[in-house]
Amino acid sequence: MDENIVIPQDMLPHDGRFGSGPSKVPPQALHELTHEHSSVMGTSHRQAPVRALVARLKECLADLFGLPEGYEVVLGLGGATLLWDALAFSFIENRSQHVVIGEFSARFAEVIAAAPHLATPELIEAPLGTAADPRASSEVDVYALIHNETSTGVCLPVHRVDGGLVVVDATSAAGGMWVDPLEFDVYYFSPQKCFASDGGLWVALCSEAAVERIASVTSGRYVPPSLDLGLALVNSRKDQTYNTPALATLILMLNQIEWMLVAGGLAWAAARCLESSSCLYSWAERSPYATPFVAQESARSPVVGTIDFDDSVDAPAVARILRRNGIVDTEPYRKLGRNQLRIGMYPAVEPSDVERLTRCVDFVVGTMHE
Ligand SMILES: *Cc1c(COP(=O)(O)O)cnc(C)c1O
Repeated sequence: MDENIVIPQDMLPHDGRFGSGPSKVPPQALHELTHEHSSVMGTSHRQAPVRALVARLKECLADLFGLPEGYEVVLGLGGATLLWDALAFSFIENRSQHVVIGEFSARFAEVIAAAPHLATPELIEAPLGTAADPRASSEVDVYALIHNETSTGVCLPVHRVDGGLVVVDATSAAGGMWVDPLEFDVYYFSPQKCFASDGGLWVALCSEAAVERIASVTSGRYVPPSLDLGLALVNSRKDQTYNTPALATLILMLNQIEWMLVAGGLAWAAARCLESSSCLYSWAERSPYATPFVAQESARSPVVGTIDFDDSVDAPAVARILRRNGIVDTEPYRKLGRNQLRIGMYPAVEPSDVERLTRCVDFVVGTMHE
C-alpha cells in the first residue's frame, strides 16, 4: 500500500500535535518563554523571581480549581509517577483501594502492592474501555481513583467514599474536566497534559485532612526525603521545591493557567474540551469504518478520545501517514494493542483543528482504499 499520501494543505489542522502527553505547547507560550520570561531562566530557585513564579502558580491553581479555605497546593519533582511512590511512603497508612481500569491506574496499584510496609491493596477492576466505581470498605484508609484513564480514554466521576481519604490521579484530566474540590483529598497531576507544559513536575491539591494525614504518616515511619510529602509541603509553603525544578516547565504551565483564567476558568476549559471531543465522537459514530472505543457515552473522555477502526482499515498505517503529513502522536496507547487512534484534545488544542483532523483521516482512508 502506498503510504506516500499527501493531504491537501488547506485540509490540514493549523497545529498537528494531538498527543495525549506530552501534548501541544502553544507557539505563543514558547515565544513568551524566550522573550518576556527569558531573564528568569538560569537563575536561582531560592531567590525572589523564581519564588514569585511558584507563588503565582499556586495562587492561579487555587483560583482555577476554586480551592476552599484550608486546601493547599503542593508541588515537587518527578511527575505523577514519582508521586505514586511518595503516596506509598507518605500517605497510605496501611491499606488502599484502587479503581483499576487501564495502564495508569494499574501501575499505581502495582506500586502499592509491591510496598513491603503496606497491606495488599483492594482492587476494583473493570475490562479495558469500561468504567468502575469504588466501594465503601472498612478495611482501607485511602481510595485511589482516576479522573481520566489516559490509556483507554475512559473518564470517571470524582466523589467521596465513606471511611477513607480520596486520592485522585488527575494527570490528564486536571484543567480539562470539571471537578468539585470538596469531593477529593488529593487531586494530582503533571504539567504536560492539560497544562500545555513540559514534564517532570507533580502538583497535588491537598485538603486539610490530606495535610494532617501527611504529617501523621511521615512522623511514624522512615521516609526517603525525595518521597517525603511533609518536606514537599514545607517547601511549597515557602514557594519552593525540595530540589531544583525545571524553570521552563513552571513558566509554560503558569502561562497556560493564566490563559485559561482570562478566558473563563475551569468551566470554560472543560467546555472547550467537550466541544472538541463531541466533534470527534460524533464523527466516529457517523463513520462507516470508525467507532468510539468506549461504548458507554458518559464514560467517554472529553480530553483523550480513543477511536477503533474496523478490520478494513489499518489504523497504524493511518497514524504513520498522518505523521508524514505533520499530524503527530495519534497512535494508541502502546500496550492496549488495538486497531485504534488516540487523540489528545486538551484545552490548548483548537476544536476546529479536531474537526480538520477528522476530515484528514477520512481523506487518508478514502485514498488508501482507492
Ligand atoms: C501521564 C500520566 C501519568 C504519568 O505522568 P508522568 O508525569 O509521566 O509521571 C500518570 N497517570 C495518568 C493518568 C497519566 O495520564
